[in-house]
Amino acid sequence: MDFSLSDEERAIRDTARQFITREVVPLELEALRRERAHRPGLEPGELRELQLKAKKFGFWGLSTPAEYGGMDLSAVLQSLIVTETGRTFVQFHFGGEADNILYHCNDEQKREYLIPTIEGDRISCFAITEPGAGSDAANIKLSARRDGDDWVLNGEKTFITNGNDADFAIVVAVTDPEKGARRGGATAFLVDRAMGWRSEFIQTMGEGGPASLVFDDVRVPQRNILGEVGQGFELGMTWIGKGRYLIPSHALGIAERALGMALEYANTRETFGRRIGENQAIQWMLADSEVELEAARWLCLRAAWIVDQGEDPRHSSSMAKLYGAGMVNRVVDRVLQIHGGMGYTRELPIERWYRQVRLMRIYEGTDEMQRLIIARDLLRGYTKVGLI
Ligand SMILES: Cc1cc2nc3c(=O)[nH]c(=O)nc-3n(C[C@H](O)[C@H](O)[C@H](O)COP(=O)(O)OP(=O)(O)OC[C@H]3O[C@@H](n4cnc5c(N)ncnc54)[C@H](O)[C@@H]3O)c2cc1C
Repeated sequence: MDFSLSDEERAIRDTARQFITREVVPLELEALRRERAHRPGLEPGELRELQLKAKKFGFWGLSTPAEYGGMDLSAVLQSLIVTETGRTFVQFHFGGEADNILYHCNDEQKREYLIPTIEGDRISCFAITEPGAGSDAANIKLSARRDGDDWVLNGEKTFITNGNDADFAIVVAVTDPEKGARRGGATAFLVDRAMGWRSEFIQTMGEGGPASLVFDDVRVPQRNILGEVGQGFELGMTWIGKGRYLIPSHALGIAERALGMALEYANTRETFGRRIGENQAIQWMLADSEVELEAARWLCLRAAWIVDQGEDPRHSSSMAKLYGAGMVNRVVDRVLQIHGGMGYTRELPIERWYRQVRLMRIYEGTDEMQRLIIARDLLRGYTKVGLI
């Protein structure tokens, strides 16, 4: 068994770290200042500029196949790089990416949707959740009714990331209510905003926010069906499952950075004539955080490695997501505690992380849904305890 990264993996990881440290971290103070004024920390134009700068370093389309100009990196490398981007709270991500579901586009759709999205000329959002269907996604009701060469969409989606900025949405709608979504009754559509849907911003405890999308007799041509009629639910579930290990990978970066701040504070802040890090109470919080961080790291890397082996990553990704999301919440909470009153202020990014990481236990499958997957796999014997 060899736990070390290859020379290539280390070199790519270190270059990503350099880029984040030199180009993104210096923007943090301004980002915090803007967010406090209820503005985006990074304007879309600034994000684009940074992404193009990163492209010159070779970072473009981490998961994008080479035929579309991407790096087509292994899952392990994607995990390592996403951890690096997690080390800054500036909402930066490398460019040249498109939702993986868009690779089901036909040639014409690729020209109209996939390629412009990869190039950053179009913005997409993926919409399955509805007010009455979140964890129970198969219960969606937004309907698509055939009318000549068109489909007419009616209903509402909610909590859609990028829903306010997207110029097209990938919408999973019910095309055959008799069958039900899970058994071929749902279909995915590519729906331009210009076709008539509108979005409404949802205030959340995080920075920025998702949107609800309202469809009121929105007419979509037949050629905008993504994949096959009846394949929508399956495509949607693949979209959600594929990158699940990336959420805890991002959490690792946040936890590393936050724990680094706690160490520095514990080594400098003095009470009762000595540094707070000399107290066992503080040491235990640091030690528990380091252990959990390290455990989450290996769960993430193993889940990514399983993806690279072409094996089913469902079980390992659910374990990484469940543990990683919980870990970062516990670590950030301890880091806030170690900083005392300062941790609670908006002078530091800790309270921001505290709000941000809470989402990780909810979206792309709640803690409870991950536990459900893990337990079912065990109970059905799909996964054996103790087998590696
Ligand atoms: C900021 C944000 C961004 C999002 N982005 C997107 C997006 O881009 N696209 C999209 O389609 N969706 C998106 N979502 C939706 C997200 O995936 C759902 O919120 C999530 O799946 C949970 O669904 P719900 O909110 O309806 O909660 P519910 O499903 O109503 O669950 C409520 C609670 O009950 C628990 N629960 C439910 N069923 C069971 C059960 N059988 N056993 C035990 N416990 C159970 C849940 O775990 C949860 O704790 C986003 C959500 C947020 C908050």
